[in-house]
Parts: sequence; C-alpha cells; structure tokens
Amino acid sequence: MKLTKSQAISIAQKIYGKQDIRVKEIESMYRDTQSKVISDVDAFIGANKSWTAKANPGEIAAFLNNLKDTFYNASPDDQNLIKMAFNNNNLNTNGDMLMANVTQDIVRLAMAQKIHLGVATENIPNVVYAPTYAQAKNVINNNQHIAEQSKNVDAIIYKSTQNAVLDSHVDSDMFSSINKQTMQTLRKVREVAEKAAKSPKDSLNWTKDVSDILTGGNKATNGQMGRAAGMIRTATAQAMNRTRLQEFYSRNVKKYKYISLESPTTCADCDALDGQIFDVDDAEEGVNFPLMHPNCQCTVIEENDDDDWDTSNHDVTDELNNL
Ligand SMILES: [Zn+2]
Repeated sequence: MKLTKSQAISIAQKIYGKQDIRVKEIESMYRDTQSKVISDVDAFIGANKSWTAKANPGEIAAFLNNLKDTFYNASPDDQNLIKMAFNNNNLNTNGDMLMANVTQDIVRLAMAQKIHLGVATENIPNVVYAPTYAQAKNVINNNQHIAEQSKNVDAIIYKSTQNAVLDSHVDSDMFSSINKQTMQTLRKVREVAEKAAKSPKDSLNWTKDVSDILTGGNKATNGQMGRAAGMIRTATAQAMNRTRLQEFYSRNVKKYKYISLESPTTCADCDALDGQIFDVDDAEEGVNFPLMHPNCQCTVIEENDDDDWDTSNHDVTDELNNL
C-alpha cells in the first residue's frame, strides 16, 4: 500500500510514537509491580516479623504451589529465568519468604513484559501489508482495543494462552536483554527490601529507593521502566520498518523517502536524513534506512518519479475517501 507522508507518520505514531498506548501499558505494569514490592515489604515491617524466625509452613506451601504453577505454564525461556532468579533462595525463614515474594513480583513483571512485546509486534505485518490505509488503521485500532483490556501484570499473564513470540523482524536478543535487565533489577530491589526489613527504623527512604530502581521516581530516566519503554518502541519500530522494506521489495518499489517524525527530543540525529530519497536496493539499516539508533522514531514512504503534486487532479471527495 502506498502511503502519504502524513499517513505514514500517523501509523508510526500509533505504533511506536507519542500516541503509543503500549508505553502506557508498560508504565502501568511497572507501577503495579512497584506497589506489590512495597506492600510485601510493608507487610513484613508492619507485622514486626523477625528476619531469621522460621516462616509459617502454610505460607511456604502456598508460595511453592503458586510458583510451580507459574513455572509449569511458562515458556522454556521463562523457566530458565525463574530458575536463575530463585537460585539459592531457600524457603525457611521469614526473610527467605520476603525475598521469594519480591523475586516473584519481579519475575512476573519480566514474563508479562515479554508477552506484551510479542503481542505488540505480532500484528505489524498485518498493518504494513494492509491493502488500504483505512484497513491498516482498523488493524491498529482493533489491536489497541485488545491491549486496553490488559493493563496489569496478572491480566497479561493470565490472558495469554500461548508463549510470547516476537515478530521475526525484531532482533532476537530482545528477550535475553529483558532477562539480563531483570536479574540486575532483582538484585537491586532485593538489597533494598532486605535492608528495609532488617532495620525498618534506619531505612525510612526505602520506598523511594524501590521506586528509583523500578520507575525512576521523579527522575527523567524513569529507571527500569524507562528502559522497558525504550525497548518496546525500538522493537515495534524495527518490526514496522523492516517489514515495510520487504513490502517494498515484494511490490518492486524502486525508491523510498526517509521521514523523520517531528520530535524535538528523540530523533535529532535523523533530521539530516528527513526528506532524502534513496534506492530501495541501497537501503541499509542504520545508514540510510531506519532504525538509525535505539528509540529512533523514523519511517519511510514509497517515492515515485510521478509523485509531483501537479500531475494529479486531487478530487476532494476521493482524497477524503482515501483517508
Ligand atoms: Zn530516527
């Protein structure tokens, strides 16, 4: 399907740009997890529990049953993550149980993040290969409607009937990046939780420490949540642009125009490429074809020699019907 510049920008903004609902979902998943971690530690402190005292056997049994259930339904990749995350985590004392609960909160966030990334990319080929702009927009709107129903970690995990699979155009190391970042986040959050639980009076700032790690508190970096948002933007933008290049090949399109989304903060480096025309055969990602860098929000449109405004009648009704 041939798109105008404004149509291409509108699609890009809905899929990975400023109107991206998926970033809001990521943020909601991270805030949800942050509340869980804080309430786990709060409950421990509030109950005046001793870190080293033996934990309640019923609590241990319930936790293990729940974890086994999660593990049984997880993908092999997530099963490995669960094993890594719970490595050396005995379930004996109250302290062990707190660490296990916090670990479970963070692991479930990672699992939901992977499902979310899979769902976000799986429909992109349907958008790119849609025969008309209107149909492409329908695909996006339907997808958003489905996504709006699942905004927290539990909903995303329970509603997914299949293991998360990334669109084939996305770099395959996305999931291993999530695993790696999860292990780092986990180590930091466990440290803060342990310190807070062992000496509640000395660690008044622990909730701030937890939120700095998970959602960045009020800082511009947004902690791990900011990295997760950047990842979903990059994955969806990558899938869309790589799929579009294939679609150009399939229709024997000869030339494309580079389009930098007008965004003062993100794509300053790409401004120089905006509007430039290249041969499809010469397209090289990172050189003259997006993505140029992580979080790049650029896109491309088909360009033909007869794309001159003067050669068309511009029937207003037709133009409006084509929207
Ligand atoms: Zn860019």
